[in-house]
Amino acid sequence: MTQSLQGRVALVTGASRGLGYAAARALAAQGAHVIATARTQAGLEELDDAIRAEGGACTIAPMDLGDTQGIEKLAEIVKERWGRLDILVCNAGVLGVITPAHQIQAKVWNEVMGVNLIAPARFVRAFEGLLRESDAGRAIFVTSGAATRRRAFWAAYAASKSALDALVQSWAKELDDSPVRANLLDPGHARTKMRAKAVPGEDPETVPHPDEIAPLFVELASPSETRNGQIVVFGA
Ligand code: NAP
Repeated sequence: MTQSLQGRVALVTGASRGLGYAAARALAAQGAHVIATARTQAGLEELDDAIRAEGGACTIAPMDLGDTQGIEKLAEIVKERWGRLDILVCNAGVLGVITPAHQIQAKVWNEVMGVNLIAPARFVRAFEGLLRESDAGRAIFVTSGAATRRRAFWAAYAASKSALDALVQSWAKELDDSPVRANLLDPGHARTKMRAKAVPGEDPETVPHPDEIAPLFVELASPSETRNGQIVVFGA
């Protein structure tokens, strides 16, 4: 069977569970060598086992995105080993606390903005050069409908995802004359730990499994993808 991403090198953040885990598996199933990162080593090892069992290749890189030098260090390792990056998936995210805006504590703001906005910005800074070394660098950032839908009690998460949209869409304009493409992926609702925390009373079976959404990551990672600076919504 032909694999659409044979020989490509892909880095996926938040790969220990949920959407990132499913995206990493789907990219590996199409032949990409996946560099998988998150804090939870056990989740990354489970992913590694799953990818290898399916005949794919994976390198795990446990890391806290709040670590000040981890992202730059990872870029140095990728540069040394592969000299380029074909696919960057900035998927890791945190919800924070669903609460009135005036009650959001500074530490919650710092974590939500740190993981959802500052970390992707640092990936842009550290990896743009490596994406430009690829013949068709593809960057995918996971956003949310909350970025544009204004809902009470969601201020921190919504602000972080709105700012992420602005970051990626501005950066994409800088990439117009390059082979690199950067897009945002809005998964809609996905059956994950984050969704269960956001909507605790919901029957998980009513929400799509991450494996149903994973093919959209593969599509946006493809060298033939031409969209740039778009918000691509699952199921739209
Ligand atoms: P999830 O199951 O909670 O997974 C979040 C991932 O992010 C985990 O792998 C987690 O790994 C990683 N992560 C969180 N904080 C981190 C940190 N400080 N350092 C490194 N990794 C960190 O959530 P999910 O639903 O799959 O979310 C994935 C993305 O989809 C997020 O950007 C989210 O905002 C977005 N999204 C989800 C939905 C939905 O319905 N689920 C809807 C719209 C958008 P560790 O805990 O192991 O570090």
